[in-house]
Amino acid sequence: MSNIIQLLPDHVANQIAAGEVVQRPASVVKELMENAIDAEASTIKLIVKEAGKTLVQVIDDGKGMSETDARLCFERHATSKIKSAEDLFQLNTKGFRGEALASIAAIAHVELKTRQEDDEVGTEIKIEGSEVTSQEICVTAKGTSICVKNLFYNIPARRNFLKSNTVELRHILDEFHRVSMAHPGIRFEMYHNGNEVFNLPQSNYRQRIVNIFGGKTNEKLVPVEEETDLVTISGFVGKPQFAKKSRGEQFFFVNDRFIKSAYLNHAVNSAFEGLLKEKTHPSYFLYLSVNPKCIDINIHPTKTEIKFDDEHSLYAMLRSTIKHSLGQFNVAPVLDFERDSSMDTPYDYKNKSVFTPTIEVDRTFNPFKENSYDARPQRTPSRSELSAPSTKEFPKYKKEPTANWENLYVGLESSLDEMKSGDKEEEESQDDFSSIQFESTAVTGSLFDEKENASLEKKDTYQLQRKYLVTTIKSGMVIINQHRAHERILYEEMLKNITMANAVSQQLLFPLLLPFSKQEIAILRNIQEQLENTGFVFGDVKEEELEIMGIPTVVTESEVSVLLEQLLSDIEHEVPDSGFSQTDLLAKSLAKSIAVKTGVHIEEAQQQYMVNSLFACTEPTITPDNKTTFITLTVDEIDKKF
Ligand code: ADP
Ligand code: MG
Repeated sequence: MSNIIQLLPDHVANQIAAGEVVQRPASVVKELMENAIDAEASTIKLIVKEAGKTLVQVIDDGKGMSETDARLCFERHATSKIKSAEDLFQLNTKGFRGEALASIAAIAHVELKTRQEDDEVGTEIKIEGSEVTSQEICVTAKGTSICVKNLFYNIPARRNFLKSNTVELRHILDEFHRVSMAHPGIRFEMYHNGNEVFNLPQSNYRQRIVNIFGGKTNEKLVPVEEETDLVTISGFVGKPQFAKKSRGEQFFFVNDRFIKSAYLNHAVNSAFEGLLKEKTHPSYFLYLSVNPKCIDINIHPTKTEIKFDDEHSLYAMLRSTIKHSLGQFNVAPVLDFERDSSMDTPYDYKNKSVFTPTIEVDRTFNPFKENSYDARPQRTPSRSELSAPSTKEFPKYKKEPTANWENLYVGLESSLDEMKSGDKEEEESQDDFSSIQFESTAVTGSLFDEKENASLEKKDTYQLQRKYLVTTIKSGMVIINQHRAHERILYEEMLKNITMANAVSQQLLFPLLLPFSKQEIAILRNIQEQLENTGFVFGDVKEEELEIMGIPTVVTESEVSVLLEQLLSDIEHEVPDSGFSQTDLLAKSLAKSIAVKTGVHIEEAQQQYMVNSLFACTEPTITPDNKTTFITLTVDEIDKKF
């Protein structure tokens, strides 16, 4: 039989390697920035267009490359960083595998300009799909600039696999944070679509963290410091009361390299034991420094996972160091949520001294677990219970006085039920849904006829328990979940507005100034157009502040900040591979936040309006999250119960 094994051509091998090293634009950002750090740059500029899909450029003022090296650097396994296998155990550089530039050049249009300090002129090389298309002498500043354009231009399947700009930009920001946080001694700048996103001067670790995550971060940090033979630990943990629902701000750096470690993360969490609200995660920025001999970085192509020789001791040390810091800074004793009835702490304590427990309103927290309700009738209802719903469509909703014990109870009880039943309820309602589907399609037409003929004086809708709307149809009755129905109505309206750009907005008398982190601002900028289509009018978009001049008519001014925060958190929690559509997510998130809550009284005219609007929807039977919006009960079914 003839021989069949062949060596793959280099450009194919490079493309395959690229699959491991370059998953998305953010991977290019990471590799290029790390190369700039290895080249001992003191300033690194990152320029990105369309979330890196069309351009990622990194400019550094490092040591540059000679003409020969400039050509060689795109070869596979071409590296200046190690010479022999022993060097793997003495690593002081980010790179060493010599495959990043080769991989990138196999799947993009790359332009390199580089000059060493003592050379008069530099070298410019253009390379596409591993083929050098031009090499020239050029005039350029000391250091290196690498432009990576049209990533995956020759692998359409991978290009199509890229997520929306919002998601890709978020990945880029994550990498930018990780790299810049590990190197506060280097100045970093970042631009996206021509806007400056970050300008981080040389500083220390603390200032760098604050410059990235915003001024408010400073007061949240508790320093952590420990030096042993095995490891030096430094950095910060966030005070427990600022723990978040998302795992956003959790960073381990080992020898200046960002790493992921579930094991060490567990160590940190266990140090926080008893100090956190349920389902919240502490933030941490921890810098470990260990002898390079004691770790193996080479187990992962992107080098984000590493192996420690003595993981157990490291775990124990980390845990006790953090516990000690939390105790020393007196954060531990005042924050025991389980034992303390600190839910009663007035909200305006929020900005007082460090030692005062500050309570963030936790919407999923269940105050009924341990305290009987009547012991605390003065509790202020949460925003959602109070939120004034849509001003245009439901101008006559009434907020019930909070002192009214029973009314408050009804609302809270039902939302509590909703919380408790959770998935179970969803399953059940799914069953209901399948059994009524046939019914509802048959019913919808006749429902409209009846509505049109119905005189307004005739009362044919009722509100039940401030949770359901009940109305009659020819064959029996319909029971509608008010919150879910409104969510569906608003969702379809938002979608329409975003795509047709025809929303009406209400001008604010005094513009709202809302603080956000730089990262949040970057995300908001990215969805600015869609948001404006829903009725938002933005004024100045500053580094850490957003000016809002107008808002959608269905929103009240007091809701805006919570609404945008919820939106940002939804974007953050969006699972990267779930077939994300930005418009859809935006519409869903806004609809959910704005929709009238359980527990709110609805006037009769609005009940009717809601019923009609629901059945005018394209998909009235379910919410955007596939939950049943209404059920029908036929006379036959009622008969059977007698
Ligand atoms: P590695 O970083 O693993 O060595 P790369 O493919 O990322 O592999 O880079 C190959 C080589 O190109 C590096 O070893 C370095 O010598 C050179 N190089 C890459 N980027 C730069 C830069 N910004 N400045 C100077 N030299 C660079
Ligand atoms: Mg490299």
